[in-house]
Amino acid sequence: MANKGTCKAEGCQKDVVGKGYCSRHYKLWREGKMPKARYKTCRTEGCRKKQTDKGHCADHQKKKAAAEG
Ligand SMILES: [Zn+2]
Ligand SMILES: [Zn+2]
Repeated sequence: MANKGTCKAEGCQKDVVGKGYCSRHYKLWREGKMPKARYKTCRTEGCRKKQTDKGHCADHQKKKAAAEG
């Protein structure tokens, strides 16, 4: 059987069992608890907002820009 790769949930490296998720995340997905990842998410850890072309969501991009002056 071909290797399906690793779970597509952010930060998860477990083997895929279905829909691109590992057993744990696939269960969450079936329960409707996984966010639909049709877009790349913000690079800030724990943030699931839509990523802008800068790599962060609009909120975090604003904070980052403010921090950089
Ligand atoms: Zn997983
Ligand atoms: Zn963010």
